Amino acid sequence: MLMIPGPTPVPEQVLLAMAKHTIGHRTAAFSAIAKDVTENLKWLHQTKSDVLVVAASGTGAMEAGIINFLSAGDRVLAGSNGKFGDRWVKVSRAFGLEVDEITADWGKPLDPAEFKAKLEADSGKEIKAVIVTHSETSAGVTNDLQTIAGYVKAHGALMIVDAVTSMGAASVPVDDWGLDVVCSGSQKGYMMPPGLGIISVSDKAWTAYESATLPKFYFDLKAYSKNAAKDLTPFTPPVNLYFALQASLQMMRKEGLESIFARHTRLRDATRAAMRAINMPLLAADDVASTAATAVMGTDKADAVQIIKQCQSRFDMSLAGGQDHLKGKIFRIGHLGFMDDRDVLTATAAIESIVRSMGQDSFTPGAGVSAAAQVLMG
Ligand SMILES: *Cc1c(COP(=O)(O)O)cnc(C)c1O
Repeated sequence: MLMIPGPTPVPEQVLLAMAKHTIGHRTAAFSAIAKDVTENLKWLHQTKSDVLVVAASGTGAMEAGIINFLSAGDRVLAGSNGKFGDRWVKVSRAFGLEVDEITADWGKPLDPAEFKAKLEADSGKEIKAVIVTHSETSAGVTNDLQTIAGYVKAHGALMIVDAVTSMGAASVPVDDWGLDVVCSGSQKGYMMPPGLGIISVSDKAWTAYESATLPKFYFDLKAYSKNAAKDLTPFTPPVNLYFALQASLQMMRKEGLESIFARHTRLRDATRAAMRAINMPLLAADDVASTAATAVMGTDKADAVQIIKQCQSRFDMSLAGGQDHLKGKIFRIGHLGFMDDRDVLTATAAIESIVRSMGQDSFTPGAGVSAAAQVLMG
């Protein structure tokens, strides 16, 4: 049982779609799938702009999102309050960009006012792009992307977004918020196995593409967009993952955007209520808690690493650990994608029983599950 923030569980409809025989990618049958997928991806992204698919993990999608629109020596402003924010700083530096960082402690959100100040001070318009992780999975924190994007729009730089654990788990209205490049990956909110990177590209980003000189070939997004206009792909796509994407997007459409977001919010709130009821401290505050993952701190009696180990050995359930300096100090519960009340009730019951057996028992037996159940009942 996968209760980690990716890879996430895959529904049977999606698994069965993948089990079909592979078909040629230059066929009418494949083009029909590509067309359907493109249309539904635009729906999910709430955009009229291009949404492209590449064979890569989320990091590949982000790399593509950076190298297509920038040139070596360009200044970028990157937010970092966790592992993934750090990663985009590294990717940017690897490609010779000049990176200014705005940081916050892991567990705290980035402060939009810091972006505003840096952008307003840049009267020469040297900052070419701002890079922000919407849902910082490593700490279970959602950054205020809408506010930051507003400042970026006023300045004129490109807004490049890691939406890997927010797309499909929270509303990411690409056009309304003015997001230029938005990256996500199939193994998170899409209810699919790993393997596809998804990138939306605004008209403003395409204009930047024209003068961007960083080297690119496989990830040259113009090739993907030219082909997508004809319901084709530039290279051999992972055909069976397209079957899966078509099936998962159809499931999402049937559920509806508002229901999907409400379900994720409910699962997050139930998880947090349960952890509080069993005296497990939460890393992030309520108002910034990610709908994708909840980071929980270990205590003197209930060690985070032991909880993860026992969850695996006693319940065959995977929880995620902490990364970098939070390694050993926290565990993370994923609740995004193909997840429902049953999963959160099972996970919180398992964690409660482990925590109790470790001697942290100053709560009424069943208090955690009961708190989760109450939230789930609404
Ligand atoms: C999972 C994840 C990624 C992508 O990681 P990959 O292993 O490359 O798929 C990027 N950003 C965030 C916030 C994530 O949670």
